[in-house]
Amino acid sequence: MSGPDDLIAPHQPLYEARKGVYPKAVDGFFRRLKWAIMAVTLAIYYITPWIRWDRGPYAPDQAVLVDLANRRFYMFQIEIWPHEFYYVVGLLVMAGIGLFLLTSAVGRAWCGYSCPQTVWTDLFQHVERFIDGDRNAQIRLAKAKWGPGKITKRLGKWSIWLFIAFWTGGAWIMYFADAPTLVRDFWSGDAAPAAYATVGILTATTFVFGGFLREQVCIYMCPWPRIQTAMMDEKSLLVTYKDWRGEQRGSLKTAQADPKAFGDCIDCNQCVAVCPTGIDIREGPQIGCITCALCIDACDTVMEQIGKPRGLIDYCTLDDADVEKKGGTGHPVLKTLFRPRTMIYFGIWTSIGLAMLFTLGQRTRLDLAVQHERNPVYVRLSDGTIRNNYTLKIRNMETRPRIVDVYIQGLPGAVLWTPDGSREFAKQSINFAVAPDAVHRVQLFIAAPETGPTSAEFAISTRARTGDNKGDSDTVIFERPEAGQ
Ligand code: SF4
Ligand code: SF4
Repeated sequence: MSGPDDLIAPHQPLYEARKGVYPKAVDGFFRRLKWAIMAVTLAIYYITPWIRWDRGPYAPDQAVLVDLANRRFYMFQIEIWPHEFYYVVGLLVMAGIGLFLLTSAVGRAWCGYSCPQTVWTDLFQHVERFIDGDRNAQIRLAKAKWGPGKITKRLGKWSIWLFIAFWTGGAWIMYFADAPTLVRDFWSGDAAPAAYATVGILTATTFVFGGFLREQVCIYMCPWPRIQTAMMDEKSLLVTYKDWRGEQRGSLKTAQADPKAFGDCIDCNQCVAVCPTGIDIREGPQIGCITCALCIDACDTVMEQIGKPRGLIDYCTLDDADVEKKGGTGHPVLKTLFRPRTMIYFGIWTSIGLAMLFTLGQRTRLDLAVQHERNPVYVRLSDGTIRNNYTLKIRNMETRPRIVDVYIQGLPGAVLWTPDGSREFAKQSINFAVAPDAVHRVQLFIAAPETGPTSAEFAISTRARTGDNKGDSDTVIFERPEAGQ
């Protein structure tokens, strides 16, 4: 019987060994765009935890903070409580749809410009060029025997990578605690063990992923390229080698000798030399292409040097490629970007964003949850009235202490009091001092006349005397005995 092993020739390796990738430095529009995006994304990541935001004396003053200990998420003026986690879910859904939108419009632009793996790998490659030199020098050094020069350069490069990796891990934990305090605690040895472990893990992963694994993460480890392929269609922009213009390729000298027999590609290999994933885009669209467009910059430079029009490698859709192959002209970029599919994604994305903004604006900062205690369900008091017991959780979501009135609606003749008070002094409303940004739990007795429905629905409501004057209300049941019991 034959099995899968029979398909593999003896001594044929299962996996091809990695070929070293030494991307050459390049300049051009897309390279500068990548510089700008790298500067912005890294600045956002490293600086955000240090931005202060005044929320008064009772709340942290860090603009963006995931306060795990107190179960709060702060983002500038917005504070999310655990029961409002749906806002975080909404943000994640928006991020997902944003990626759908980006992919259907401009292919793998996320991978090419702003994915952390791309950004940090790019940063590490610049460090490499700074220490080892450009592509050819790097290849020479890689092949050179180990000696003082190579050891010094390797140690220098790895030290800088490690430094960057450490600050990357260090910046991450700042999002989970007050940054200045955490830095002090970290260096004095007083931080939580989880902080040291997180920095250690992130330092190691950044160092290894950015320094050594690089394009292998994109090609072999990340599921996103496979998912993206399903999201793209024939109208998505891809980095495309226009073979109908470039082929038959040949060296400049050969092509000049017989111009009619050759296309515009002079086989200079510059597009391959600058590629951070080491692929040859002339072989067609492939999973290794992160659409960083550096090959466009490289080829445009070559085309300018040999006096040919730019755009032999360019962003192009599969539809436009077919049109151009037949001698036609592709659609303008704007028409490609603003088509029904991308507009639908954009519509869904903005609708979720607007709905979240609306509910954020409408939400009350005073929340009430009432539980009817059922053991016993009711008590008959000496004056003949019926008492039910409730437990209230009053959430003051403002960062200041507040006096909160609690009152009854829809239960005629009812009065309320707490275990600290007494039936004689019971009233129709009562108030509590609720600490800032806290939940006040209180037991409440409510007594009502015996006559009335056995299960009467009514509301317990709250209103704060200060701050946001929106209150909250919870509908509960008041139980009475059956007639004659
Ligand atoms: S850079 Fe342009 S001309 Fe040079 S090999 Fe690549 S596609 Fe051909
Ligand atoms: S083929 Fe071009 S666009 Fe694709 S990864 Fe390489 S340089 Fe970037």
